[in-house]
Amino acid sequence: MVVLTENEVRQLLTEVEDPELPINIIDLGIVEKVEFSDTGRVTVKLIPTFVGCASLEVIRLRAVEQLHRHGLAGVRVVWNLAAKWHPDMITPQGRAHLAEYGVVPSYLGQESKNVAGNSPCPYCGSNRVETQASYGAALCRVVYFCQSCRNSFEGLKCPGSHSNQLAYLKRERH
Ligand SMILES: [Zn+2]
Repeated sequence: MVVLTENEVRQLLTEVEDPELPINIIDLGIVEKVEFSDTGRVTVKLIPTFVGCASLEVIRLRAVEQLHRHGLAGVRVVWNLAAKWHPDMITPQGRAHLAEYGVVPSYLGQESKNVAGNSPCPYCGSNRVETQASYGAALCRVVYFCQSCRNSFEGLKCPGSHSNQLAYLKRERH
C-alpha cells in the first residue's frame, strides 16, 4: 500500500481540473480536508462552490481517479455540503488564471478581503460593472458587463443559503 503525506495528496490534487474552468481544485480552494484513518485510509473532503453545479460528480470522479492512479486504492472523496465556500478561498495563482480566462469570483454582495468592490473587471480593473445575465455558460456563473472597457466577462456565483442548497439537491435526486 502506498502511504502519502497530506501535502503529497494535495500536490496530486493540483492536477485535477475543474471541468468548466481553467483552474485546479486546490487553486479553487475546494479541498477542505485530507484525513487519514488509523488504517491509513484517505478521505478527501471537498467544498462545493455552488451545489447546483453539474460538475460536482465529474470533479469527484476525477479526484478519485487521480489518487487511484498514484496508488491510493482505498481513497474516498466526498462533498462536505455543510461547509461554505467563499471566493476568497481561491488562491492568488488561481485568481490570476481565471482573470486571464475572463472569469472573476462573483461576490454578489458578500464581503471580500481580497477585492475592493464587487467583481472588478478582469480586463481593466474597473468597478463600473453591471450584471448582464443571471446565467453564464453554466448555471453557476453570472455574466457581467464592464461599462469602462465594454467587455463582458463571467463571474462564479457564491453558494446561496445552505437550506436553498439542500432543497436544490433534493430536487435533483428525484
Ligand atoms: Zn473593464
